Amino acid sequence: MHEWALAEAVISTILNVAKEKGAKKIIKAEIKIGTLQQIEVDVLTFAFRELVKNTPLEKTEIKLKPEEVYFKCRVCGVRWNFSNATSALGREKSEAIHFIPDLVHAFIRCPRCGSPDFEVVGGRGIWVEYIKISK
Ligand SMILES: [Zn+2]
Repeated sequence: MHEWALAEAVISTILNVAKEKGAKKIIKAEIKIGTLQQIEVDVLTFAFRELVKNTPLEKTEIKLKPEEVYFKCRVCGVRWNFSNATSALGREKSEAIHFIPDLVHAFIRCPRCGSPDFEVVGGRGIWVEYIKISK
């Protein structure tokens, strides 16, 4: 059920920003969702639809966009993304990673030097990317 908590947090962020900017209307908001995050987009979409009722966001176009995961090797510095990494794995393993993000270090290796010592530089969390308002 953490989708509801996330949707609530995102909505209050948008409302705060809109208030700060003196917005009369919030036309559009774009939300980025890290693909490594364990989020059910359907549930999140539903949560938004329910939670914006009777708020200034009721008529706002809310777009949810996935944010690709990037990895950066701590040894050789090469960057690569989740699709590159998982195309080398079987389907079952990629799904396991989607469900349990901590597994990335168990399955994924640097494509250049083979090191398991890398960091995740994108695709985590959920945030408000863009808000369009009218004054
Ligand atoms: Zn490397």
